[in-house]
Amino acid sequence: MRKIETCTLCGLHRSRKNAVPGEGPLDAKVMFCGEAPGFNEDLQAKPFVGSAGKFLNELLQIAGLRREGVYITNVIKCRPPQNRDPADDEIETCTTNYLQKQVTMMKPKLVVALGRIAARVLLGRHVVMGREHGTLLDCTYAGATFKLFLTYHPAAALYGAETKSKLQVDFRKLESILKSLP
Ligand code: SF4
Repeated sequence: MRKIETCTLCGLHRSRKNAVPGEGPLDAKVMFCGEAPGFNEDLQAKPFVGSAGKFLNELLQIAGLRREGVYITNVIKCRPPQNRDPADDEIETCTTNYLQKQVTMMKPKLVVALGRIAARVLLGRHVVMGREHGTLLDCTYAGATFKLFLTYHPAAALYGAETKSKLQVDFRKLESILKSLP
């Protein structure tokens, strides 16, 4: 993913320290997709390494997964200033060039959308996470078909105990879904 590291296709390259392509085995059956790198990810060029990343590690354990065994990435690969939501044109440029290619190349059996932006991009429609978290859907994205599991972004748990426990319940559910994966 060297091309991502030097990418200047959208304005986010001006403020980033590092692009964050993703991490994990390229033949992983399970992919986790968040929204965008944050402060720590931008510094370390790795996805989910700050507080939200620590909580994601706990959630992976609940689901019986090892972090080294899954692929973890984001919709967009460079940190938006002050962690603002990525703009539509940034999402369009970045996903067309990178996320779509990652999904097509890796052909994951299951993708976990972490948060409403990843869910919206992968499903191609608005998602109200409060209503749809914990659901498993059939998804076709960039010509690849896979199961899509919807849940909150782990960062949302840092601001509320209720979301934290919903995420924990979702990842327990994910554990049983993983057992039925072909
Ligand atoms: S966010 Fe994506 S398209 Fe924009 S500069 Fe970074 S890698 Fe390139």
